[in-house]
Amino acid sequence: MKVRTIDFDNMSSEELCKRLSEFHGHLGPYLVLGAKMGLYAKKTLSSSPFEIAAEITMPLKPPISCTIDGIQFTSGATTGKANLKVLDGLPIRAIFYKGNEGVVLIPKEGIIDKIRHQVDHEDLEELAEQIMKKDYTDIFEVEKWIKQ
Ligand SMILES: [Zn+2]
Repeated sequence: MKVRTIDFDNMSSEELCKRLSEFHGHLGPYLVLGAKMGLYAKKTLSSSPFEIAAEITMPLKPPISCTIDGIQFTSGATTGKANLKVLDGLPIRAIFYKGNEGVVLIPKEGIIDKIRHQVDHEDLEELAEQIMKKDYTDIFEVEKWIKQ
């Protein structure tokens, strides 16, 4: 089997926002938050969409669940390959792992509050683009994860 992936390393944040919105149907801040999580996981764990796995906990209702599509698009962990598990609930967290080791990503309160308080559609697109350009450390906490 030939493994095929999108080369995110050589893609501008504008191009990535465009591709994401084409996949998901609109550009929103939660979608981009998920995409950033997936990019971080891919960068730190594995670039193979078959080696990486994810387990996401969050309320399964849009717009927050748009995060899951961002995660699938960039991380390579997808429901179709059965390496993505989604759980309905709180607190919001995304575990990414390869084998028995991985990372837990928890969105920072500040970023979630900021998204919640933006209601105008146009502002949401702008906020999405801003989040895409942020450092990983500005939008989520990272903890080590080891399989029990
Ligand atoms: Zn959405």
